[in-house]
Amino acid sequence: MIIAVDGPAASGKGELTQRLAKHFNYARLDTGKLYRAVGWRVISVGGDPSDETTATRAAKGLTANDLEAPELRSEIVAEAASKVAAIAAVRAVLVEFQRAFAANPPDGKSGAVIDGRDIGTTICPDAPCKIFLTADIEVRAERRVNQLHEQGTVAIYGRVLKDMKERDSRDTTRSVAPLEPAEDALVLDTSKMNADAVFTAALEFIASRTSD
Ligand code: C5P
Repeated sequence: MIIAVDGPAASGKGELTQRLAKHFNYARLDTGKLYRAVGWRVISVGGDPSDETTATRAAKGLTANDLEAPELRSEIVAEAASKVAAIAAVRAVLVEFQRAFAANPPDGKSGAVIDGRDIGTTICPDAPCKIFLTADIEVRAERRVNQLHEQGTVAIYGRVLKDMKERDSRDTTRSVAPLEPAEDALVLDTSKMNADAVFTAALEFIASRTSD
């Protein structure tokens, strides 16, 4: 069983996929971390995340350890992630790991909940359950500011909003695997929904997809 959850930054993917993974006892993969780790590998040594050769080399050299770096949650790394993510060769390196995770979830789990931008469209186009979360950009920027404050990071709303607009634009307009809902995805606008309401709607959708 594969549940694909896509959507822009701070649309609620993280919270929903954590709840779904717990509920069904499935393995969870946050694919944003992979791109963030590649971006961080590049910028931490002063490299240019838009440079194909540098970014592809960083993707090929990715280790499990790189995924644990605390810096990955920062906005600067998010920006670098969206730059490396626009490079086809980088995506090609990361595709295999993601598909292998979906085909053989770790720890003997019987399913996977995968969160990202292109899971329903490119990584697992045959996933039986695809959910696309979205929300107004102002709402998402406010959520991100709150998340950053909870992490103890100083964040200015106007700056976060501007960065998020740029990242949205890069993610939706890139030529390879742009952010967009799969045709058969449940699209949920979470602007006015709390996490419980999103979870309930997702469970209903999954039940409807798995009942026959
Ligand atoms: O989800 P998160 O904010 O951690 O993702 C960081 C960046 O990684 C995104 O803005 C996007 O550019 C890229 N990404 C992607 N495809 C995915 C997951 C993330 O292009 N499946």
